[in-house]
Amino acid sequence: MSKATITAPTDRPTTEFRSKHVFDELGMVHDPDNLYLQTIDAVLTAAEILELPHHLQIILAQPKNEIMAHFPVMMNDGSYRLLKGYRVQHNNALGPYKGGIRFHHDVSLDDVKALAALMTMKCSLVRVPFGGGKGGVKVDPRALDRDELMRVSRRFISAIATQIGPDSDIPAPDVGTNAQVMAWFSDTYQNIAGPNNRHDSLRVVTGKPIEMGGSLGREKATGQGLVDVVAELLPNMGMPLEGLTCSVLGYGNVGSWAGRLMQERGSKITAVADHTGAIRNDEGIDADLLAEHCELTGGVAGFGKASSPTEAGSNVHATADPISIEEFYRTEVDLLIPAALEQMITSREAEWMNCKVVAEGANAPTTPAGERILLSKGIEVLPAILCNAGGVTVSYFEWVQNKSAVFWDIEHVDRELNKHMVLAARRTQLARHRFEVDMRTAAYIAALDQIGKVYQMRGIFP
Ligand code: NAD
Repeated sequence: MSKATITAPTDRPTTEFRSKHVFDELGMVHDPDNLYLQTIDAVLTAAEILELPHHLQIILAQPKNEIMAHFPVMMNDGSYRLLKGYRVQHNNALGPYKGGIRFHHDVSLDDVKALAALMTMKCSLVRVPFGGGKGGVKVDPRALDRDELMRVSRRFISAIATQIGPDSDIPAPDVGTNAQVMAWFSDTYQNIAGPNNRHDSLRVVTGKPIEMGGSLGREKATGQGLVDVVAELLPNMGMPLEGLTCSVLGYGNVGSWAGRLMQERGSKITAVADHTGAIRNDEGIDADLLAEHCELTGGVAGFGKASSPTEAGSNVHATADPISIEEFYRTEVDLLIPAALEQMITSREAEWMNCKVVAEGANAPTTPAGERILLSKGIEVLPAILCNAGGVTVSYFEWVQNKSAVFWDIEHVDRELNKHMVLAARRTQLARHRFEVDMRTAAYIAALDQIGKVYQMRGIFP
């Protein structure tokens, strides 16, 4: 066992990990900026409050399997690149491992481990019978053309084909992957699985195109689940959705759907930021037009050349002023939705923020130091495992539809999703009141309660 060291803290100047004793026991180095340790520290803090047995805490502190693969891919110019990919299987006590695969130039093993652990918690919180997994390939998909992207997708899935399966580990889209990539994943796996399992093995991935067994409602599911959660919780805090002001960080799948669906409920999107820039209009930005603009141009920059209110209503506008990222965070709103990447709200951004509630659309967008500042300012933080669980919930519906060869209509999908999200929100609120903790800890407690009961009944093999 390696000796634990405490490195110079950056974003958490004074506080040590609360689960230091577990990290020491498992020989984990105490890096305060490490997303995996931050995530597990928060999970184990909740486990302590719930008095989960120590052996379960150490089981959950590490993933069951960490798979790393190096694989060559031919580029269009005839050269070869050796790429690195990961699949982490955190826990499968509740069912097959489940979680997205990300293509991003910054993918690292510890980030994938953190995201896999969050999936374990998320599936348990919304009570879908899956465990937690996650994957990633260290590559910039924007630098690849369609053929190169296809070869990367097929080579990676063939590299991990023996480790995944429709009843053991089921990938899905994440940042940098989409329904097309899922179609290539599924087709590659089906070819490897052989003729006997060909059709059943379609459900090895979710988030597929509708024509290839995808579910209606999957594309908007994460944004919709977030809106279901805020619609359940915010009115009880004196904030009806009608007339609510929102800002959105990241306007990709999650952010743009959250923005559009909040607007549909009568809320006003007044500021949006992404990797291309930030914009603001206190009268309201047209969330639909902005989504179209981002689809066409790749980001929010340049939106707002027109100057008249849109047909969507007098309170939403196709105009917006470019602002700095600092101004974006400082914009006064009721609700801020981070829907970009991890660890974006550090203590600096938290100091700037001027909102009443944060609803985390992205995974782990708030660092522990950032969260402490938000809570000290009286800002409520609705955690990712609650707010963005809509994606995995509709993925589960897709898997169920594939398994039973049926096709649900959109009303059915929306209704079932709403049930899962509302119950998860109530479960979290209940834990919050019972244990007098913040919403993140409450969500982990509500998730761990289920996992703890299952372990207690099953015991540890042999
Ligand atoms: P996406 O690729 O569609 O969108 C990502 C967005 O983040 C883009 O708008 C991009 O411009 C923005 N972004 C990237 N770097 C940025 C930076 N430095 N500053 C500001 N903005 C930046 O991805 P997505 O699917 O919407 O996922 C977003 C987050 O939600 C991720 O954390 C992902 O893991 C999580 N999530 C996604 C789903 C899903 O169903 N898509 C489900 C659960 C969780």
